[in-house]
Amino acid sequence: MDTKAFRRTLQKSESYHRKGFGHEEEVAGVMQSAYQSPLIQAIRDNQYHFTQGNVTIHLAQAFGFCWGVERAVAMAYETRQHFPDERIWITNEIIHNPSVNQHLRDMQVEFIALIQGEKDFSGVQPGDVVILPAFGASVQEMQLLNDKGCKIIDTTCPWVSKVWNTVEKHKKKAYTSIIHGKYNHEETVATSSFADKYLVVLNLDQAEYVCHYILKGGNREELMAKFAQAYSQGFDPDIDLERVGIANQTTMLKSETEQIGKLFERTMMKKYGPAQLNDHFQSFNTICDATQERQDAMLSLVEEDVDLMIVIGGFNSSNTTHLQEMAIARNIPSYHIDAVDRILSPAQIEHKPLGRGIEVSDNWLPEGKITVGVTSGASTPDKVVEDIIEKIFALKN
Ligand code: SF4
Repeated sequence: MDTKAFRRTLQKSESYHRKGFGHEEEVAGVMQSAYQSPLIQAIRDNQYHFTQGNVTIHLAQAFGFCWGVERAVAMAYETRQHFPDERIWITNEIIHNPSVNQHLRDMQVEFIALIQGEKDFSGVQPGDVVILPAFGASVQEMQLLNDKGCKIIDTTCPWVSKVWNTVEKHKKKAYTSIIHGKYNHEETVATSSFADKYLVVLNLDQAEYVCHYILKGGNREELMAKFAQAYSQGFDPDIDLERVGIANQTTMLKSETEQIGKLFERTMMKKYGPAQLNDHFQSFNTICDATQERQDAMLSLVEEDVDLMIVIGGFNSSNTTHLQEMAIARNIPSYHIDAVDRILSPAQIEHKPLGRGIEVSDNWLPEGKITVGVTSGASTPDKVVEDIIEKIFALKN
C-alpha cells in the first residue's frame, strides 16, 4: 500500500480534520478549570520550590501536559462542541491519563472496544465522528474509517507525524526502519504501519543483540523468536538488516534512542566502511522536545536533596515510566501514582513499582520535616499534580 499517497488523499478529504474547529474560546474555560491549577502556578512562580508546614515541594522545571497533549485534548473537546448531536468515537485513550479519558466519557465520547486484543469497529456507522488520539492510529485503521464514510478528527501530535515521515523516507530508499519503542504501544503500532520493513527494539540490550547479528551472524531462529511480533511480515534478518534507518516512539528515553542510533551507525561503519555508510544507515532527529525537556528537568531534580519522589502519570504512560527510572537510578525512594486516591493514608500508598503490578507500600511518608520531589508525565494535567501535593500537605500538617 502506498501509505504516503493514502495520507495525502485523506488529508484533502472534506471528512478529515486535523486542526481545531475555531471553538477555542468555548473550550478554554473547561480546559482551565479541569486541568490548570493556581497552586502549581504559585510553585512555578516561586522557582519551583514551595514550603508549607514541614513539607517542602521541589517541582521539576518541566513536567506535565505537553503542547501536543493539550492540543489533542482541546481538539477532542472542540469536536463535541462542533458535532453536538453526532455519535463520537475515539479509537483509543486520547492520552494515557484516566481523568482526561473520564471527561471524554462524560461528554458521551465512546471508546472503541477491544475484543480479544482486537479493536471492534463494528458499531461505527457511516457519518459517525471518530477521533484519532495524540499518538495516532495505524494507516489500516484510518483506511477502514475512511472507507466506512466517517468524519475523522486527527489529533495526532505533529512530532509523531514527523516520525511517520521519517519511516516513509526509509521505505522510499528500501531501508529497514529500526524503531526504538514498545512493539505493542499504540504509537509504535501506528508508526510501524507506515513502514515497509521494520524491527522494533525495546532497549539498548536488544539493539546490541541485533548489531552483533549484523556483524557476526548468529542464530536466525533465536533472533526471530526473540523479536516475535516486533518485525514486519516477511522480515528476513539476513537481507533486511543490510540497510537500516532509525526511528523512535517519541516518549522513549532520549539518551537511549541516541545510544541505539550511534550503535547502529558504528555497526554499519564497521561492516561496510565509512565511504559506504550512507548507503547502509540513515538517522534523523525525531526526539520530541517535550519528552526531552521533561527528562532533562528530572535529571536536575534527582540531583537535589529530596527524601522521596512522587512521579505522577498513567500507569501505561511510557514517558512517565522513564521519569521514574531516573529516580531509581539515583536510589531515591519513588512512587509512581496516577491519581490522588492512590495515597491511602500517611502510612500507606498504592503505587506501581517499575516493571511490577500495583502494590501497597507502608511507611512511605517519613516523619518530621521532609522534602518531596514531584514530577509528572506529558499526559498529566496540573490539576492532578495539585491534588496530590495538597494531600501530602494535609497528611503532614
Ligand atoms: S510527548 Fe511529544 S510527541 Fe508526545 S504528544 Fe507530547 S509533544 Fe507530542
